[in-house]
Amino acid sequence: MDITSILEGLNDRQREAVTAPLGNLLIVAGAGSGKTRVLVHRIAWLVAAEGVSPHGILAVTFTNKAAAEMRARAEALLSAPPRAMWVGTFHGIAHRLLRMHWRDAGLPENFQIIDADDQLRLVKRVLRAQNLDEQRWPARQSAGFINAQKEEGRRPRDVPAGDHFTETQKRVYEAYEALCRQGGVVDFAELLLRCHELWLDREDLLEHYRRRFGQLLVDEFQDTNTLQYASLRLLGGSAGNVMAVGDDDQSIYSWRGARMENIHRFPEHFRDTRIIRLEQNYRSTGTILKAANGLIERNAGRLGKSLWTAAGDGEPVSVYHGYNDTEEARFVADTARAWIERGGSADEIGVLYRSNAQSRALEEAFLRADIAYRIYGGLRFFERAEVKNALAYMRLVSSRHADVAFERVVNLPPRGIGAKTVGLVRALARERGVSMWQTVKEGIASGEIKARAAAALGGFLALIDEFAAQVEGRSLHDVAQCCVEASGLLAHHAKEPGERGVARKENLEELVAACRRFERDRLSPLDPRGAQADGADEPSSTLEDFLDQAALEAGEYQAEGGAAVQLMTLHSAKGLEFPLVFITGMEEGLFPSRMAGEELGRMDEERRLAYVGITRAMRRLYLTRAESRFIHGTDSYNPPSRFLQEIPVETLQDVRLGGALKRPLQRNGAPRDEDAALRIGARVRHAKFGEGVVLRCEGGGDRARVEVNFAGLGSKWLMLGYANLEMLD
Ligand code: ATP
Ligand code: MG
Repeated sequence: MDITSILEGLNDRQREAVTAPLGNLLIVAGAGSGKTRVLVHRIAWLVAAEGVSPHGILAVTFTNKAAAEMRARAEALLSAPPRAMWVGTFHGIAHRLLRMHWRDAGLPENFQIIDADDQLRLVKRVLRAQNLDEQRWPARQSAGFINAQKEEGRRPRDVPAGDHFTETQKRVYEAYEALCRQGGVVDFAELLLRCHELWLDREDLLEHYRRRFGQLLVDEFQDTNTLQYASLRLLGGSAGNVMAVGDDDQSIYSWRGARMENIHRFPEHFRDTRIIRLEQNYRSTGTILKAANGLIERNAGRLGKSLWTAAGDGEPVSVYHGYNDTEEARFVADTARAWIERGGSADEIGVLYRSNAQSRALEEAFLRADIAYRIYGGLRFFERAEVKNALAYMRLVSSRHADVAFERVVNLPPRGIGAKTVGLVRALARERGVSMWQTVKEGIASGEIKARAAAALGGFLALIDEFAAQVEGRSLHDVAQCCVEASGLLAHHAKEPGERGVARKENLEELVAACRRFERDRLSPLDPRGAQADGADEPSSTLEDFLDQAALEAGEYQAEGGAAVQLMTLHSAKGLEFPLVFITGMEEGLFPSRMAGEELGRMDEERRLAYVGITRAMRRLYLTRAESRFIHGTDSYNPPSRFLQEIPVETLQDVRLGGALKRPLQRNGAPRDEDAALRIGARVRHAKFGEGVVLRCEGGGDRARVEVNFAGLGSKWLMLGYANLEMLD
């Protein structure tokens, strides 16, 4: 292994971090300063120079996608792929440990992960059982309460006594836990808590993993929650080989329990911490960086970092004001098209928004412009109803006792099993402490379930058993195909009217394709899942692995395909970079979000989110807003985002008249940059009116107008799409 090649392409400070002597390390640095790069190189360094076994490395990051990238990059630096290394998200790693030690963790062997949606349904059931009025006690609130407690490491008995609200939620939490235990299901927060408790309860296991993982590395450290931090202390506290990498200015998940203070208190809890700051940004132009720095300076209580770049200023940050969201979206699509026509790739473009509800207008504009796009994180492929239905069938094929799945599809497509019958079965199952499947089976045999219900339920049981027999020994995508088609789901969903039916059908087909890819990747030697990384791993079935992954990666799944513009929320853009970035919906009430005004500290977090968004841009950044927006079913009119005022004005340029121009203007014969054109004060020539100066610009697209002061004639309003204007400077 070549040690010098690991240090290539690093500046002095980065090199210092990569080669630091073994011990606790905290890298605090601004966006784009190479934190992730340093972490990856550190892994390679530990193996190549310090002789650490890859087996002893545990690296944690925020998304599965980032984890895959991290592994690939570390492997590329080392000649021999360090297969045994563990790289993943906190949830992914906890899940892996629980699968290995399910017995010690008090879980059934085939425990299933449930997503937020399933969790909500279970909570609703609890609320109903406790006669709590959904208006007064919304399920979402209870689920939030439960998750927050778990993230703080608290079981119901650990929740401090409180007022009526707390006591009620505590009871809901308790009943919800019982329900999960009974169904053998585990929610996301539970994965972490179980794993933490496993270590607390079983000192021998903890000791084993302490010895095994001599080196812990955590990226995006600013977004760790209390429990994650506590686990990290448990595991790495004594050995003292933890590398934490983060940026307090990019902490954007406090609403999900993240504790930015974890960065501040790290040196207190991890002895002899060496702190290294990186200050050179390699990602963005000087102007983009200045805009970002200027904005984030408005937050109080920062660690404070100065970030500089050796790159030139680049172009100004463009601000576009559209009449409405349709026009805003069209501007984005047109500008993206211009980028592609000038030789750029669609892959280089990231379109960011605060709320998922904004994606629809953007999608339409990209469809109309015939530009390939992909939604990352927002649509949650594996959480779509039709996909979840198919997954439920697959789940039942894998395990008949999966009650959540059973309830979901027992009458889907409709086979005459009413809600009352299902309710009855559920009640019986709970009473007897067995699965619903078991209850039905016994109920039919004993005559307890009769006549029509027995026939319909019996038919369903037979169907699943038949699937299982059919696909025995067959590949994963055969299972999927069977569950999608023979179940009648495809026909059922395709019947839905119009586009919807088409989309659902396509998604079901995509699920089968995803299974095919999953099998292919598992066989590939480069994929982490392809090898059993740990001797203690028990071989598991492809079907179960796929279902686990579908639950864990729900929001990250992307269909494969050619180059495409990436659409995503600002939150999911963390850690990524794009040459061309749009941040859309720069409006008060949307971004910053309305909630920010109401909660203490939330405005600062929104500002950090804006900082994250801006610093994703490498070369070109557009901030767009719409004067009116159709969102959540109504038209709303929001003033421009305060962030537009807070960004240093000298970095901004208004481009009211955008890429939606019908006829491109010519500047000295060359195609004009799609927006640099008509700024206030620009000199223009009109075929009939002669030379003039632009006084005002309004609107965009077809309605774009300019007011021009023509020498000797006075000012005139011109419709830009029709006026024959030529730029003079
Ligand atoms: P973020 O805060 O957004 O997560 P980061 O600090 O993790 O950013 P990286 O993603 O590691 O930053 O690096 C940002 C970009 O700068 C990447 O494209 C990376 O390859 C590049 N880069 C980092 N260090 C150097 C260097 N020394 N020389 C050249 N390019 C570098
Ligand atoms: Mg990073």
